[in-house]
Amino acid sequence: MTTHLDRRRFLKLGAAGLAALPALPGTGAKAATKVSTSAHIVIAGAGAAGLAAASRLAERLEGARITIIDARKEHYYQPGFTLVAGGLKPEGYVTSATRDYLPASVRWIEERVAEFDPEGNKVVTEGGQSVGYDALIVATGLQLDYGAVAGMEVDRIGRDGLGSVYAGPGAAAATWQAMSRFADQGGRGLFLRPNTEMKCAGAPLKYAFITDDYLRRRGNRSKAELVYAANNKALFSVPIVSEKVRMLFRDRAIQTRYDHVMTAIDLGAKVATFSTPTGPTEIGYDFINVVPPMRAPEAVRASPLPWQGGAWAADGWIEADKATLRHPRFPNVFAVGDVAGVPKGKTAASVKWQVPVAVDHLVAQLQGKTSDSVYTGYTSCPLITRLGRAMLVEFDYDNNLTPSFPGVIAPLEELWITWVMKTIALKPTYLAMLRGHA
Ligand SMILES: Cc1cc2nc3c(=O)[nH]c(=O)nc-3n(C[C@H](O)[C@H](O)[C@H](O)COP(=O)(O)OP(=O)(O)OC[C@H]3O[C@@H](n4cnc5c(N)ncnc54)[C@H](O)[C@@H]3O)c2cc1C
Repeated sequence: MTTHLDRRRFLKLGAAGLAALPALPGTGAKAATKVSTSAHIVIAGAGAAGLAAASRLAERLEGARITIIDARKEHYYQPGFTLVAGGLKPEGYVTSATRDYLPASVRWIEERVAEFDPEGNKVVTEGGQSVGYDALIVATGLQLDYGAVAGMEVDRIGRDGLGSVYAGPGAAAATWQAMSRFADQGGRGLFLRPNTEMKCAGAPLKYAFITDDYLRRRGNRSKAELVYAANNKALFSVPIVSEKVRMLFRDRAIQTRYDHVMTAIDLGAKVATFSTPTGPTEIGYDFINVVPPMRAPEAVRASPLPWQGGAWAADGWIEADKATLRHPRFPNVFAVGDVAGVPKGKTAASVKWQVPVAVDHLVAQLQGKTSDSVYTGYTSCPLITRLGRAMLVEFDYDNNLTPSFPGVIAPLEELWITWVMKTIALKPTYLAMLRGHA
């Protein structure tokens, strides 16, 4: 498949999945001349957003001290989890080493942040190290709250029809084993999403489509019933996308249940319990893809950083100006990636666009200047609808569709080229982003 695509077209394709919007003046890591400063910048979290921020700051600044704090030594390419769970890539496809993406000038403290003290301009690590800063970028991602689903046991993923694509590379591989057995045997497949904000809201939908396709390819679709339980009255937060998915689900005979929020699971009896407007409902399954509630990590939730009221306060998402990613109460603090309390985002594609904006504002601040860089809410999701086809869904804060390549990749069309983008071109572009080059 790749032989017809030269490298340049290949990276362009990947960029469509990772926010191929035209760069704003000054947002390119190499566009600006280096800024001299002795500031100490701390980055909490060395995932997609933290590494991209570290790379960009190292490129933009001269003389700065940059410290990144994260205990995790492996880097997970999470957009690949669905491909592993779809039997399309091996488990190793998604794991690499954090160290490989860190610029030599960046100091890495291999611990977690236990306490954020934005009043004292410091963080404290789990080992008790106090680290002061002039500016802080919080990029801790989010926490998968499996504990909120009564009866759920993460270490049983892969057995007794229990799948969960999100829990990590091993869980994604084990989910493939469970789903593949289901595709051989049939029964009821149950899919769902949580009632919280979540990363890549397209992923639970993709997995329902992929499972449907395996059943068909193995001649077992008539032996199976597929049910998708949505947390509210929509299948996706962008109305036009929700409607398109509803039509595709109807065509593929994937049943829908609305206003169903999973609260418990009986792994032995293979029954999931949902809260609904009319009371608790049980649905039995032969295969289930559990997608847990998602919240800000504990250390963030316990800090003064989250929204103090409104929709994002309860789960601890960090208060941030949606255009600049700057904290309104602590102006030397920025939130990027999944932990940011902004109306859209929570994809690697959003990270690609958020980080240059936050870095631009931070660098301007160090110079006593201001920046006019703006994050528009760009979010992108290559939604696999069957093996060999995907729809590129790109949108902004106002639910406008924002196609990167109008006339080439039509939004909401099931295309082979979008499938190539998701399965082949996205990863090299993502890795380039970690190095500050995309
Ligand atoms: C199944 C799945 C499919 C996806 N598909 C897509 C897709 O197709 N397209 C797309 O664009 N995106 C997709 N995503 C979403 C994308 O992977 C995330 O949005 C992206 O990784 C967010 O980056 P982040 O840096 O905010 O978080 P992460 O990459 O998760 O990194 C967070 C880091 O913070 C660290 N951390 C946590 N707590 C602390 C602490 N207290 N102190 C220090 N460090 C801490 C963690 O160890 C981790 O290294 C998918 C995600 C999943 C799970």
